[in-house]
Amino acid sequence: MSIRRDASLAALVLLAACSGPRLTEAGRTTPQTTPERSGFAETSRLAEVESFLDALRTLPFANRMQRQTFGTSHEGRELPMVRVARADVDEAASLRALVLANIHAGEVEGKEAVQVLLREFAAGQHSDLLDRFVLYLVPVYNADGNERVALTNRVEQNGPDAVGERANAQGLDLNRDFVKAEAPETRALLAAMNRIDPHLFFDLHTTDGSWHGYDLTYAPSLSPNCDPQVAALSRTLLDDATASLLAQPAPIRTFDYGNFETRDWDGGGAPSSQDDVRGWWTYDHRARYCVNGFGLRNRIGILSEAYSNAPFAERITSTRAFVLACLRAAAQRSDAVRSTTRDADERLVAGGASARFGFDTNFAAPERLEVLVGDCERIALPDGRGVRFAKKDGFAREEMPVFRSFATKRSVDLPEAWAIPEPRAEVVEALRRHGVRFRVLEEPCEATVRIFAVAKKRKPKRPFQGHQELVLEGDYGTPVVRSLPRGALWVDARQPLARLAATLLEPQSEDSLSTWNFLEAQTTDAYPVLQVVRR
Ligand SMILES: [Zn+2]
Repeated sequence: MSIRRDASLAALVLLAACSGPRLTEAGRTTPQTTPERSGFAETSRLAEVESFLDALRTLPFANRMQRQTFGTSHEGRELPMVRVARADVDEAASLRALVLANIHAGEVEGKEAVQVLLREFAAGQHSDLLDRFVLYLVPVYNADGNERVALTNRVEQNGPDAVGERANAQGLDLNRDFVKAEAPETRALLAAMNRIDPHLFFDLHTTDGSWHGYDLTYAPSLSPNCDPQVAALSRTLLDDATASLLAQPAPIRTFDYGNFETRDWDGGGAPSSQDDVRGWWTYDHRARYCVNGFGLRNRIGILSEAYSNAPFAERITSTRAFVLACLRAAAQRSDAVRSTTRDADERLVAGGASARFGFDTNFAAPERLEVLVGDCERIALPDGRGVRFAKKDGFAREEMPVFRSFATKRSVDLPEAWAIPEPRAEVVEALRRHGVRFRVLEEPCEATVRIFAVAKKRKPKRPFQGHQELVLEGDYGTPVVRSLPRGALWVDARQPLARLAATLLEPQSEDSLSTWNFLEAQTTDAYPVLQVVRR
């Protein structure tokens, strides 16, 4: 952390605390966010976000903003979304980005950074981005959690004192719900993804973990089943953003999300050469995390994790800057973003043997990289509320193994299609919600199929998110001719969402509808979804 940046932040806090609403050059009052009004002591409630959005209408470029409703929360709150675009934009020809803040409602700076960005767009800033982009920003995704403000939520976070709750009003973690889509908020998110088809999707969080030396850490979609070229482009955009943020006058340090841990690693399939490895380990590859699930749609998902031990005002600054840097990186490579995502779709539609579906996933071999190690000060909170950790200035540089990607040990070819002879309504609905295309057979038909023989079912004793996740072991048999009845579901694998369809339907998928018990009642010795290998 440079002294220069600390000084400018202190000045900002002082300005916000002492000067009241700021005046624009035209003499109009500039709307302020709740943190700005409170000297960064408070975060905004939903009603305050709505009044702030209303107040932006007074700004000179407010016609670039369009208020929409993203969906409705479990408790019936309408979730605001703002579309930002030039009036004469050709949306179909533009890049599109969806920015989701506040999925974990105690992690509050994304919500505030989105409001700051909206004010800047309404004031006419970032016009260059609107030459390329149509943006959709959702400041308060988990609105019910946001309103459950308590001093006991996220006490270790370096301010503000009172924040909302992680889960939604059903007690569901919205960032574990992407596959099963049980929450109305997730269903609204999937509907928005289907309607908008964003090239970029941002999910804004705050860390919970290790004391590192970064302002913010990030991850692309970590599913090993993502299109490799989309994955490579995601990495390029993150590298571009990292470099541009570091080159700013007040540098913002970013790196891949992770934690300092010592973990068992089996060498990625090689005979066990290493056991306990101390390094920097990323989180998870499964599609229940919305950025990972989004990547399976052949688009660019970006997880943003502002550093929990940095002061609230700095976290807002870093999150805003990171989103802008990624958007600028994508705008500068707009042709590549368009062609890479389109080609990934077209490769699947064309079929062919190139696409396989992998499972039995572990961390890929680490890269040896420099990681910034930080330190924190412990601050005892009043009334026995616990201990807050505030970062100390500076960091140490340490080279270590960095585990930031995953690899699969086994895989199967994508079939021609999947067939579900007796589809249950909730399975049909789940596919529809995800936007996976399918048809219902109007006449019986014969097809050559492979049937997965279930050798073993495993379930943990403890439920997770209200489910006992099911793991299936077994093998596909040799192809057989099978008659499919009228009413059977036919899910063509030659479609843009084939990677997502495989994740939802394959028996060995590590995060499927089967995992979340949607198919369990029908899973006997044979798995109820068949791979069609010839029509
Ligand atoms: Zn989070």
